[in-house]
Amino acid sequence: MKELAQTDPACITEDMRMFRVQLRRFIADEVLPYADAWEIDGRIPHTIFRRLGELGMLGMRHPIEYGGTDMGPVASVLFAEELGRCGYGGLPASVLVHTDMAAPHISRRGTEAQKRKYLPEIIRGEKIVAIAVTEPGAGSDVAGLRTRAVRDGDYYVINGSKIYITNGVYGDIYIIAARTDPHAKGSRGISLFIVEKGTPGLVVARKLEKHGIWSSDTAELFLEDLRVPVANLLGEEHKGFYAIMSNFQNERLVMAGMSLGASLKAIELTLEHVRTRQAFGATLWDLQATRQRLAMLATKVYAARALTYEAAALDAQGIDCVLEISMATIWDCEVHVEVVHACLQLHGVSAFMRGTAIERMARDSRVHTIGGGATEVMLEEVAKRL
Ligand SMILES: Cc1cc2nc3c(=O)[nH]c(=O)nc-3n(C[C@H](O)[C@H](O)[C@H](O)COP(=O)(O)OP(=O)(O)OC[C@H]3O[C@@H](n4cnc5c(N)ncnc54)[C@H](O)[C@@H]3O)c2cc1C
Repeated sequence: MKELAQTDPACITEDMRMFRVQLRRFIADEVLPYADAWEIDGRIPHTIFRRLGELGMLGMRHPIEYGGTDMGPVASVLFAEELGRCGYGGLPASVLVHTDMAAPHISRRGTEAQKRKYLPEIIRGEKIVAIAVTEPGAGSDVAGLRTRAVRDGDYYVINGSKIYITNGVYGDIYIIAARTDPHAKGSRGISLFIVEKGTPGLVVARKLEKHGIWSSDTAELFLEDLRVPVANLLGEEHKGFYAIMSNFQNERLVMAGMSLGASLKAIELTLEHVRTRQAFGATLWDLQATRQRLAMLATKVYAARALTYEAAALDAQGIDCVLEISMATIWDCEVHVEVVHACLQLHGVSAFMRGTAIERMARDSRVHTIGGGATEVMLEEVAKRL
C-alpha cells in the first residue's frame, strides 16, 4: 500500500527514523498477526510491553541513568503516530498511558529512591503503569475529586473510587490521586501516590466494556482503607493537581500523534478500496466527488502532522507551548473522527460489518475527542491564550 506523508518534518532525526523502521517491523511481525485476538481478550499481553522494553521503546520520557533514552516529545509523537497507524486503537491507548501519561510522573516528581525502585522495571516493560485520577463525579473537572487520603503515622489511608482507568485491570503500578487536605478548595489539597498491585484495599471492582479500543483494559477501582506508606507519596503533598496539569502536555501530544497515525492509516486503506471498487462502469476513484473528498481529508491530515510536530518541537526546546499543543490535539482528534467516518462512508456497507478495519477504527476513534481531555476543555486553553 502506498504510504501517505512520506516526507518528515525537520525535527525528526536520523535516530528517530531508525527507531521508526524498527517499530514498524515489530508491529508487522509481533502485533498485527495477534491484534484481533487481543481485541477479543480485552487486553494487551504483558509480553508485548516486555518486547517493547527490550527494543528500548518505553524509555523516551525517562532519564538515561534509570534505563531510559530521554528522546523527548518529538520521539513520543513519532512513537504515538506509528502505534496509531497500526489501526488497533487499544495498543496505543495502553502503551501510551504507560509511557507518556503515567510513568513520567515518577521521573518528574519522584524521589531518588522511588525512581531507582520503579523506573528500571517500568522502562523494561516488566511492570505496567496506570494513572488513576478520574472518578464518577470528577472527569474533565479534576478539582472535583473526592477520594480521600488521611495520614495515619507512617501511612496514608485512602478511601474512594476511580473509574475509566486504562491498564487498571492488568497493570502493576498505580499512580492514584487523592485529596489530602479536606479543607482546601477545588484544585488545592490533592496529592499523588504510588500504589502497587496486590496492596490490600486496592480493589479492581470491574473490567469495563467499551464502545471501542477493546484491547486496552479499563477498570473501575475501589479504594477501601488502602494503606500506602508515606514513602510512596509522589511529589509534594497537596500539590498533585499541578503535577497532573503539567503532565497534560505529554498526554495531549501523544493523543494528537495517535490520532494522526490512525487517520493516515484510514486514508491509505480507503484509497486502496476506492481504486479497486467498481461502480457505474468505473472505480469509485473515478468519481470526482470521491477523489475530492479524499483530497480534502488528506489535506487536513497533512496540516495535522505539521501542527503536531511543530508543537512537539517547541516542547522539546522548553518553550511554553500549551497553545500549540492544545491546538494540535483539538485538530488531530477532531479530524480523526471526521476522517474515519468519511472513510467508512466511502467503503460503503462493507465497513459497517464487524471485524473490518474501518469498522473497528470508527469505534476506536470516538474516544479521541473525549478521553484525553475533551475538545471543549482544550478550546478553553486556546481561548485563554488568544
Ligand atoms: C477509554 C478511556 C480511557 C480512560 N483512561 C483514563 C485513565 O487511565 N485515567 C484517568 O484518570 N481517566 C481516564 N479516562 C477518563 C477521561 O480522562 C475522562 O473521560 C475525561 O476527562 C472526560 O471526563 P468525563 O468523561 O467524565 O466527561 P465530563 O467531564 O462529564 O464532560 C462531558 C462532556 O462535557 C463537555 N465539557 C466538559 N468540560 C467542558 C467545558 N469546560 N466547556 C465546555 N464543554 C465541556 C465535553 O463535551 C465533555 O465530553 C479514560 C476515559 C476513557 C473513555
